[in-house]
Amino acid sequence: MSYSTIDRASDVLKSAFEILRQGFPDYENRPQQHEMAGAVHACLERKNRLLVEAGTGVGKSFAYLIPAILSGEKTVVSTATIALQDQLAKKDLVFLGKALPHEFSFDILKGKNNYVCLKRERELTEQGEARDRFAQWLRDTPTGDKEEIPFIPDFWGKVCGDTEDCGGRKCPFFSDCFYYNHFKNLHKVDILVVNHYLLIYDLLSEFTLLPFHKTLIIDEAHEIENVVSHVLGSTVNHSRVSWLLHRLRTLEIAVDHIFPRVDSYFKGGYLPRQDAGNSYRIPDTVIEGLEHLKGLLSLEMVASRLKTYKETAEEGEKADKVETTLVSLHSLSRDIDDFIIRENPNKVYYMTTSKGAMALRSSLVDCQEPFGALMEGYESVVMTSATMSAGGSFSFLEERLGISGCGEKIIGSPFDFKKQALLFIAKDLPPPDHESFQEESLKTMEGLIRVSGGRALVLFTSYKHLHFVSRNLKTDYPVKSQGDMPPARLIQWFKETPDPVLLATATFWQGIDIKGERLSLVIIAKLPFGAPGDPVYDERCKRLENRWFGDLALPSAILLLKQGFGRLIRSSSDQGVVAILASLPEIRTVHNLEDVRTFFDSIPSSRDLGPARRKGVRKKRRSVREL
Ligand code: SF4
Repeated sequence: MSYSTIDRASDVLKSAFEILRQGFPDYENRPQQHEMAGAVHACLERKNRLLVEAGTGVGKSFAYLIPAILSGEKTVVSTATIALQDQLAKKDLVFLGKALPHEFSFDILKGKNNYVCLKRERELTEQGEARDRFAQWLRDTPTGDKEEIPFIPDFWGKVCGDTEDCGGRKCPFFSDCFYYNHFKNLHKVDILVVNHYLLIYDLLSEFTLLPFHKTLIIDEAHEIENVVSHVLGSTVNHSRVSWLLHRLRTLEIAVDHIFPRVDSYFKGGYLPRQDAGNSYRIPDTVIEGLEHLKGLLSLEMVASRLKTYKETAEEGEKADKVETTLVSLHSLSRDIDDFIIRENPNKVYYMTTSKGAMALRSSLVDCQEPFGALMEGYESVVMTSATMSAGGSFSFLEERLGISGCGEKIIGSPFDFKKQALLFIAKDLPPPDHESFQEESLKTMEGLIRVSGGRALVLFTSYKHLHFVSRNLKTDYPVKSQGDMPPARLIQWFKETPDPVLLATATFWQGIDIKGERLSLVIIAKLPFGAPGDPVYDERCKRLENRWFGDLALPSAILLLKQGFGRLIRSSSDQGVVAILASLPEIRTVHNLEDVRTFFDSIPSSRDLGPARRKGVRKKRRSVREL
């Protein structure tokens, strides 16, 4: 493509922003947004790869959606959560559809498990009020989309779609299927909004899941490594095994005697005593128990019986059920063997607990190869997020994902942090691993919440610390903790409650967007270094050997700290305080390299030192890296 063509297209981009500026008084004209849009536009025109970090307030979604719309190419936009998919499809793209004179179509695709599966719904044995309400909803719904149910029944997992248990076109319910009826028109749309899980499942199914693969825009790109690691791992848990038993029962295979053994394996003596939400190495006794369970399930025998059924069954519901049950059975059998052997060198195997049951999990340690394959599947790729760079460089993300040769751009926030925000760094606190840290930091938190009049989000790096503060915090303001209600309702509670205090961890470091005074204080309860004890993190550190701190621990802590910090200032009129409860001494702080150079110029250089002192300096440097 010639440069003049690119220049012409660039004029179209400028005029698109001009239309928004003139026609919509609510639209905030931001030079940073135009700069990002220009970089995305050039990347798409030249079929390149681009990494672009856009600070809070840049308005990155318009900055990539507008060039994608103008490019006229079929574009997949992937983001981290369904809530963010909704924001893009139901707000941003709707707005642009009305505002821009360019014709384009868009839609959203979620995983199959977000839609009712008519085949599985027919097998449901539950009775009672929830079932009646669900049946009523099912009669009326035109979409079968979980999002439209006014209540989520406990049995949702049994009635939603499941890739392994779905025969697609061969399914007798295919013509009425909610998922496929939604899916069948998607190849016509210009912009398809998906989430990272679906994007990686598409990779896993050799690019057969999404309807087209030209341009890919990955928003919240800092999340993608974890999703690759998760999706390419596996889970053996109570619901997976007991669902298979239920299915076998409907196929008249005698399995009733196995249910109690499955319950006692996942919900009995192997349950660790620690807090829920954490991960643990798998003890040998758990694997011995799994071998017993495998013997009891006798999956090979059941498989050969199902194969006999398959040969004799006529086309129809039963034949389809037998076939998909065989797929589920083989997949479970493979995963159980994988946990018993645990020999894949690129996987880490561990246990988790949730809702009174333990689960076996495996995750991919190194995601470079699959991520490379994902990039290869698209002509143009843009990756963006508010937090991708550490120390002004993308090398951390590039190394983690194994990518190189991408264009790079860092676009700062348009907000005036000097005027809008104050940073409080606690001093005189004991080190975080000291036994009195929790008590002492609690007093600092109480003081901060008192002076801010509530309106605070407290971010933790562990549930243990969160639970301690939740039990002991003394304050006059209303307090809720993560886990008290689902995340979306907690955010709603925060928005509707005067002077609230929310104690949270995990997704709340990045998944909360509250503008205005209601959120005026963000307390970071501890520097967010990855928790030792998290098996995936520990394994990655181990493989990096003595580079673990500089190459993983430090840059990932910087990114998470930036995410936490980003919760506070969400608009140009927001003001507030970020408090970091780390024990740092009072020390002169500088912000640019020239000041660092001046500092070094003012002290004797190690180059001027004798060999003995030089050795001492080198040793000191090493000890910092080995922290
Ligand atoms: S095709 Fe059949 S099995 Fe697959 S989701 Fe639709 S109804 Fe369920």
